[in-house]
Amino acid sequence: MEKNKRFIWVLLAGLAIFVVVPILAFRIIGIKKTGKQEFTTPSASPSATPTTSFSATPRPLTFAEMNKLYGPCTNLPVLMYHHVEPEENAKLNKRTGLNVPPEMFKKQMEYLVSKGYSTVFPSDLANFFDSGTPLPSKPVMITLDDGYVDNGDLMFPILRQLGLKVTIYLATGLMENFNYLTWAKIDEMKTSGFVSFGNHTWSHKNVGGAHDVVLKEISTADEQLADRGLNSVKTFVYPYGLDTAYGEKVLKDLGYKLAFTEVHGRIQCKQKRLSLPRIRIGNSLMAGYGL
Ligand SMILES: [Zn+2]
Repeated sequence: MEKNKRFIWVLLAGLAIFVVVPILAFRIIGIKKTGKQEFTTPSASPSATPTTSFSATPRPLTFAEMNKLYGPCTNLPVLMYHHVEPEENAKLNKRTGLNVPPEMFKKQMEYLVSKGYSTVFPSDLANFFDSGTPLPSKPVMITLDDGYVDNGDLMFPILRQLGLKVTIYLATGLMENFNYLTWAKIDEMKTSGFVSFGNHTWSHKNVGGAHDVVLKEISTADEQLADRGLNSVKTFVYPYGLDTAYGEKVLKDLGYKLAFTEVHGRIQCKQKRLSLPRIRIGNSLMAGYGL
């Protein structure tokens, strides 16, 4: 009996040492690894510090690297604006973050002229991608999103006076509403030769929603622009900057040549033509934006 009892105790001890302890140990290590790597900074837990090449923010690719990977590329700052309205108005409507007051906008435009920049339309970039047509030296593209009434009343006269080109991306279904452009004003601006237009969906929906909605949003705006002769070279700006694979597919199927995001950058590459970067311009002097 004594012998059997001792045998059982030895067996249990063996089980504990060789089976239970390793399982518990693996569990604890596993929890530490997954938990700590995700939620604490590497410096706080040196034992779990990943190698620097993975933990460090990757540096932006150089022009040469981008050109090799996605080229041909060109260095073209595409400036992003929304409202150009008096600051008091923007404050009242809680949209100062989307506004550059007319006086500042004028200063920014005069700066571009004084520094020898040439404004280009999206069609010029599309021609560079498709035919290799070179852009002028020091090119810049000016874009305004949504189609607000101030673009016609306050921005357009400044632009016309200085002889600069801009492109306004319209959420077409919102035109003729309070605070938005009228089709008559859009037509007047188009006729001037200083303004071109592009697709910004029908009701300003992002392209991350249900496929049938995304398709309807983009294609309805596409038809409305085409009906008014505003879509001969088709280009797009993603509402809220959200770019998705399905959104790109719809644009490609409809013959869109370019699409702009809100990702910061100025290197425009052919193989990323439906996911191009821009530079958000705020209420400060232009020199502060690297131009
Ligand atoms: Zn927008």
